Amino acid sequence: MNRTAIVTGAASPRGIGRTTALLLASQGWNIGLLDIDPCDDLAAEIVATHNVKAFAATADVSDETAVRTAIDDLESTLPPLAALANIAGVSSPVPYLELPSAEWHRVININLNGVHYVTHRIAESMVTHGYGRIVSISSTSAQRGGGTYSKTPYSVAKAGVIGLTRALARELGPCGITVNAVAPGPIDTDIMGGPITPDRRTTMAADLLVNRIGDPHDVASAIAFLMSEDAGYISGHTLNVDGGLYMH
Ligand code: NAP
Repeated sequence: MNRTAIVTGAASPRGIGRTTALLLASQGWNIGLLDIDPCDDLAAEIVATHNVKAFAATADVSDETAVRTAIDDLESTLPPLAALANIAGVSSPVPYLELPSAEWHRVININLNGVHYVTHRIAESMVTHGYGRIVSISSTSAQRGGGTYSKTPYSVAKAGVIGLTRALARELGPCGITVNAVAPGPIDTDIMGGPITPDRRTTMAADLLVNRIGDPHDVASAIAFLMSEDAGYISGHTLNVDGGLYMH
């Protein structure tokens, strides 16, 4: 495949981004990695394991200038940018009445503005090719008003991701670009204050229709499907990957 998928938020060793990057590489995508932390080891692992090209760039997604520089670098070394997985994000468990203004802005800047900055830069390239697949991670927190770990600014930012997805699906559709979101329920990573203890795992699973919390592969496989050729008639959609936590 002579196409590249950009994956943000892939540095975390037990995270959704790393699993997604490895799954997409196994399907033949060349991979551009972008995270606030270095991902060079993952890029080397992808090249060694999957016989595709992979490069890593470091940037804070909430810094638009740094994002544009990082993606310029990735684009100059990789085949055409055809897909984007917006996965970078942070949690925020602070109750609303105790919420400092700086925390509100930190979470909105990373989880919503960061998605916009990366998407805007990559959409500029996609429109020149007349093809693109954009998938951004929202959360059931956007739909249920939190309820798992993170609170208000997280829910607001993740709801914003759904609005951004729908607006871009409408605007970029004529350019051959599909835009979708994935809304995970509780997934076994370290974002909710560190590794999930067995007790917490049991409590979280009690709310679900399947009797386990999710793992990163559950989310990665949904992203890979939405990026596939077979998903070309799906746009503006939010796909819940949540064990039945939210039915709408
Ligand atoms: P994770 O393991 O913490 O991965 C998030 C990655 O994003 C980390 O590598 C993180 O780096 C990076 N990142 C954070 N701030 C960044 C910034 N400003 N610029 C660039 N990269 C940054 O968490 P995860 O569980 O895989 O989460 C991935 C996505 O899924 C997030 O958007 C999250 O909100 C969403 N999600 C997760 C769950 C869940 O239950 N796990 C549920 C719903 C939605 P650091 O490690 O340095 O912070």
